Amino acid sequence: MEYQALYRKYRPKKFSDLLGQDHIVTTLKNSIIKDKISHAYLFSGPRGTGKTSTAKVFAKAVNCLNLEAGEPCGSCTICEEINNNEIIDIIEIDAASNNGVEEIRELREKVKYAPSKCKYKVYIIDEVHMLTTGAFNALLKTLEEPPQHVIFILATTEPHKLPLTIISRCQRFDFKKISVQVIVEGLKAIIEKENIKIEEKALKKIAKVADGALRDAISLLDKAVSYSPELITTDAIDEICGTVSEEEIEDIILNIINKETEALLFQVNNIANKGKNIQQLIEDIIYYLRDLLIFKNVPEYFSTDNFKVFSELELNNDDIYQMIDEFNRTLNEIKYTNHPLILLELALIKLTTGVESKELKKTIEKDKEIKEENLEKKEESKEEIEDKKESVEDSEEILEKLKKIRINNTLALADKKVLEEVKIKWLDLTSYSLDPELGPSAGLLLDADVKVASAESVIVSYPYESMALRINYDIENMEKLLHLVIGRPYKIIAITEEEWLKIRGEYIGALRTGKKYTVIKEDVDYGVLAQKNNSEDLKSTSELEQKAIDIFGEDVVEIE
Ligand SMILES: [Zn+2]
Repeated sequence: MEYQALYRKYRPKKFSDLLGQDHIVTTLKNSIIKDKISHAYLFSGPRGTGKTSTAKVFAKAVNCLNLEAGEPCGSCTICEEINNNEIIDIIEIDAASNNGVEEIRELREKVKYAPSKCKYKVYIIDEVHMLTTGAFNALLKTLEEPPQHVIFILATTEPHKLPLTIISRCQRFDFKKISVQVIVEGLKAIIEKENIKIEEKALKKIAKVADGALRDAISLLDKAVSYSPELITTDAIDEICGTVSEEEIEDIILNIINKETEALLFQVNNIANKGKNIQQLIEDIIYYLRDLLIFKNVPEYFSTDNFKVFSELELNNDDIYQMIDEFNRTLNEIKYTNHPLILLELALIKLTTGVESKELKKTIEKDKEIKEENLEKKEESKEEIEDKKESVEDSEEILEKLKKIRINNTLALADKKVLEEVKIKWLDLTSYSLDPELGPSAGLLLDADVKVASAESVIVSYPYESMALRINYDIENMEKLLHLVIGRPYKIIAITEEEWLKIRGEYIGALRTGKKYTVIKEDVDYGVLAQKNNSEDLKSTSELEQKAIDIFGEDVVEIE
């Protein structure tokens, strides 16, 4: 039989198979039982924590023909076809490879059609943050008015990269890293079924290295099986992962306690020469020390003969805390240096002699200088961000001004006959809706509610602000299209329904009191609006900020 990767073979098929995300599973199950299903979900969280698996189980559960207390039965035709990936109503899109507007536009086209067999068509869009701005806008349009038979599940490891307009339309679930204990349990179930021989310690090491990602843990187990099929030992895991054995970590700690500085330096250099990861080594030392602290205070917590070597040593909590502190500090500083080994050596010297080595310190100081230079550069970029923000604020002001003038002028010259004429010509927009370039704009305009028109301009309204903004920030292109349809240069301004109610109220009030609207000169340079639209639309600031965060880290770049 063809070999199947373990993580595929053991992909969760039911809610009860999903590990470590109990709060999410319970909520989803209840929503199905109570028939309170929403049309858009956002699953965010670190990789390997079960986002797409949960999405698939959910897709099955909402469509299953014999639902059992919120769980898909697994044996009806729908469940079977979904399990075998044979059903066309569950559509998985990987945004990382399909980030074009085209794919989403195609999705928008097909969304309208009823599902072939299922009750719900479920779109699972993985890594949704990779979509382009154009694709987001297209998706947003669908999310704003999703057909009854459609459910969207957006999955992402980086929710901060999503436009707020998308996030606000979804019911959001945050997936957490899965604990070592839960991962060990999950692996044990597989080990039993597959009859895999593995040392208990090796199992725990896999779970630790996987860092909260069950999928990574299962993949690692898979690798380990092919690496040493008879018995998986911790050595095998260390070889595969570039980690250091527990005995070696024990030795390091013993050497610290016995103040064997030279032996220690020799030892860590040796480890580094083998190409092991120093940061991972420090993390492992801290992890070990934490366990040692527990052992010192609650020995019965560990059933094995771990820490036997330490039981005879005189070692108090303060000693252990001091080591943990020192290694934690080192771990923090490692981010800013190209010399992780030197930092580790410094820490070891300090722990064993109580003094800090001057020569080593110099190298680190130099590193720090470089780091500070970089910090200055960061400051500069921060200014750039501020500039960018200003220009966004500017464009908001300009739009407000333009809106005021155009609303006023359209009302001042409002003509009912012209309105009828415009409404009829508006329908001609349909002939552009299949045009590859003008199609999206035509579609957006067709969705508008034409409220007031004069010979020169028109006020249109939309239920959502995001839609109105898409007109206003692309006003020049919209007007080019309107020129074609109306047959003369024609201005437009878009507002929300809410704004319209207010404007209408004011207009009626003015008519009653005899106040007249007079035409104001339109001296607004709205080129900057299009600029904003071109510069990656409405999420330009957040994207720039994100870029800065990617480069400099979250604590340097503050987000309001
Ligand atoms: Zn079923």
